[in-house]
Amino acid sequence: MTERTKITIAKGDGIGPEIMDATLKILEHAGARLDPEFIEVGEKVYLSGNSAGIPDKAWDSLRRTKLLFKGPITTPQGGGYKSLNVTIRKTLGLYANVRPNISYAPFIETKHPDMDLVIIRENEEDLYAGIEHQQTPEVVQCLKLITRPGSEKIIRYAFEYAVKNNRKKVTCMTKDNIMKLTDGLFHKVFNEVAKEYPTIEADHSIIDIGIARIADSPQNFDVIVMPNLYGDIASDVAAQITGSVGLAGSANIGDQVAMFEAIHGSAPDIAGKGIANPSGLIHASVMMLVHIGQPDVATTIHNAWLKTLEDGVLTKELTKDGSGVGTSEFTEAVIARLGQKPSVYQPVHYQEIQPSEEDTFKLDPVVKNRPAPKVERKLDGVDVFLYSDTHTPDELGQTLEQLAGDEFELAIITNRGVKVYPNGFPETFSTDHWRCRFQMKNAGGTVTNGDIIGLLSRIEDAGLDFIKTENLYRFDGERGYSLGQGQ
Ligand code: NAD
Repeated sequence: MTERTKITIAKGDGIGPEIMDATLKILEHAGARLDPEFIEVGEKVYLSGNSAGIPDKAWDSLRRTKLLFKGPITTPQGGGYKSLNVTIRKTLGLYANVRPNISYAPFIETKHPDMDLVIIRENEEDLYAGIEHQQTPEVVQCLKLITRPGSEKIIRYAFEYAVKNNRKKVTCMTKDNIMKLTDGLFHKVFNEVAKEYPTIEADHSIIDIGIARIADSPQNFDVIVMPNLYGDIASDVAAQITGSVGLAGSANIGDQVAMFEAIHGSAPDIAGKGIANPSGLIHASVMMLVHIGQPDVATTIHNAWLKTLEDGVLTKELTKDGSGVGTSEFTEAVIARLGQKPSVYQPVHYQEIQPSEEDTFKLDPVVKNRPAPKVERKLDGVDVFLYSDTHTPDELGQTLEQLAGDEFELAIITNRGVKVYPNGFPETFSTDHWRCRFQMKNAGGTVTNGDIIGLLSRIEDAGLDFIKTENLYRFDGERGYSLGQGQ
């Protein structure tokens, strides 16, 4: 008997159970060799008091099978519930989110009939680190973390994906004209890795005009690699302009575990109505079948799906007058066409992708390949963040100058990143959150954490309220912190 692949299945919330049952029916009729374990995650689990939305026995199943096929999940609003998707992606190290976006003209109406692009979204870092704090009554912050190993892994994945899938170009999108350190690092690593793939064209675009260009002329893009948040936004834009957000599937790939899902959410507005389009999840299942070495079944399902569209069977959201079919009729139409090929669309033919030893080595440079780089790190000073709703910038500046001591000098005070002392503008709006930059007095000298503790003690004794500090470092002589606007 042919071996079956163990798989964990979560039907999800909202339209999740409807589209999952539809997809599983197609998989069964197509002869997918699967041995499923079903888990309960999402809304019900959250509302039972589990703030992560996933019980221990679901984690056990995931560790056993290393493969999750998942319907969309509803994250209840407020109440401290953490996004289950983000938790699963980060806990299981699913660093690459692969989102193909293809248009299916002429049978699905779109302004972009020649679109065939793949967004490769970094899945673990950036603002999705979920590190947020309220620091003063008026100010909250979210930490944006970009790492060199995380960037290298996803960018290398994008180039490897391009090579393996016969793609010609990889475009990187960041906002490094503003975020010079975080997005700047992502861009820099992109330039470094691109040099290792001379057969693939590499280019970079600032994210705002980049997403505008995806929306306007998606046919000019091939593979696009982006940090987490931009990738999330851009891939919904890209999916929507193919005709519907309900069409695209996605793969979340890690070194050991993989998760496959539709890109859309649980669509509570249409849940239970029997009209949801199962295509996003069907596409996710096709990607999963290729991943687990069942390209024959993936080919059968994808061709049957294309033939279904060609025969004019479309779900309601894809038709202007709402005349389309419901979920089960669409599903039966796909099943009836298993074994058939499209005649207008190019039929697909998936082949087994066997990752070589070398691939794993290349995609996991941090763990297997790379000693930590030797970098000379030197402390330059400290940013002390103060809470005050009573001081003017000048009062604060004059007090802090007295407290700077022999080691430091007060370089600048900013409010929301803009200089307010010395010589601030009266027009600049200020909140209760002040960043006070203390720089080492003698440029060639040294300061230590002990000196910073001394400075903080003096600030405390003067009755000022510090809420956090950030050390200012140079790495190999290069400034590792941004200047204040106006500094
Ligand atoms: P959504 O993607 O669920 O819905 C957006 C719009 O697209 C709605 O009008 C919906 O009816 C339509 N739509 C979505 N999928 C469709 C399909 N298969 N067929 C036909 N129409 C479809 O986005 P939302 O409304 O912002 O989010 C709803 C919930 O889903 C939220 O709780 C959100 O957190 C969650 N969500 C989950 C995931 C996931 O599990 N991967 C992803 C995104 C959003």
